[in-house]
Amino acid sequence: MGPGLGRPKRGENELMRYLLNQLKNPIVFLLAACCILLFFAFVFQTARSNPNLITLPKSPPNYLALRTPEDVLKLSFDNLVQDKEDLESWKEELRIKVTSLLRLELNPPVPDYVMLSSVRKEGYDLIHIQYERIPGYILVPHDVNYPVPGVLILAGHGHGAGTLIGEQEEVLYADGQVDIGQYLAQEGYVVLVPELDTLGSRATDLASGIHTGTHARYGTLLSMLGYSSLGIQAQEALTSAELLKSLDWVRDLPIGVIGLSTGSHLSFIVAALDPEIKVAHSASGVLSTIHLQEWLTTPEYIHDQIPGLLEWADQPDVAGLISPRPFLMTYGNQEGKPFSIEAKRKYSYNYIKAIYEMDQAEGNLVFKTHEGGHQYSKEIVKDFLDEYLR
Ligand SMILES: [Zn+2]
Repeated sequence: MGPGLGRPKRGENELMRYLLNQLKNPIVFLLAACCILLFFAFVFQTARSNPNLITLPKSPPNYLALRTPEDVLKLSFDNLVQDKEDLESWKEELRIKVTSLLRLELNPPVPDYVMLSSVRKEGYDLIHIQYERIPGYILVPHDVNYPVPGVLILAGHGHGAGTLIGEQEEVLYADGQVDIGQYLAQEGYVVLVPELDTLGSRATDLASGIHTGTHARYGTLLSMLGYSSLGIQAQEALTSAELLKSLDWVRDLPIGVIGLSTGSHLSFIVAALDPEIKVAHSASGVLSTIHLQEWLTTPEYIHDQIPGLLEWADQPDVAGLISPRPFLMTYGNQEGKPFSIEAKRKYSYNYIKAIYEMDQAEGNLVFKTHEGGHQYSKEIVKDFLDEYLR
């Protein structure tokens, strides 16, 4: 340490000594004590009038037990399915319920698309398209014998489709989904990346943070109209699946759907409802609301959920509808809550595993963790698709 560094200057010492001396005067002492008491009284009163300022306990109470009807999860696997004879009727009933909660039209018609541009890239052609209200990209690999299997990739929050195809930098969120479309096209898959409603370029104010921007406000407005953001996005994803199945580069071969984060939520919903999707991958991922109620305090739980779901089932029930088809679940050991908790405690995986076991298809449910954060593990995705989709 250099000379004089870290020591109070002479003037500061004298000031401190002067103030301490003043406190020896009983009137000054009394005034100072009153000021401190008034300060704490003000903080306490403000916290009482604004509950947001009161810190939530580390182990929150069971929120579902508060003012909720007793018969929640009325259509859950745990509550309804005793043996294999019940399984198919349970799946059908829950599919109908989820379709109704999200106000979806299943088996939508194949949309017409217009080609906006086509650019030759290293190993694939990048085709910019538009269908209905949805902009998107088709990535068509070079040097393969068509048709080849198709992969529908659903973006999570962030800069959307542009980042998934390696054409745009991700600055809002970590680079968990960057280049995944480009990577899979170079590995020989025909890839479709739609830009879903209110995400990526269809969010008007990304810079202000997507969970608090128009994306979230639009979600709130939709819920007041009896619709949901997730429902609109799921409908667009179902339409996108129809388009991918119909492409000449893919025709008659199977398709898969993958997604990260909110894209992962959408990917298991779409695969659960469209039996023609042969494989699905949810990267960070399926979340058990029942076991992870502390997450109910975060904004995603308001505008990015299936409205009314818990009356009937939890997220792992919906993902379980994919059984017996191949389903890959991944989580990062380094990512934040609640995903890292699923990585360690496997609440959702263990629940879904029971469904696959009843279907005698345990080998088709793949659970992997990786040493990354909130992101894909590209190698794990490629190995899974090569094994189950080719
Ligand atoms: Zn959101």
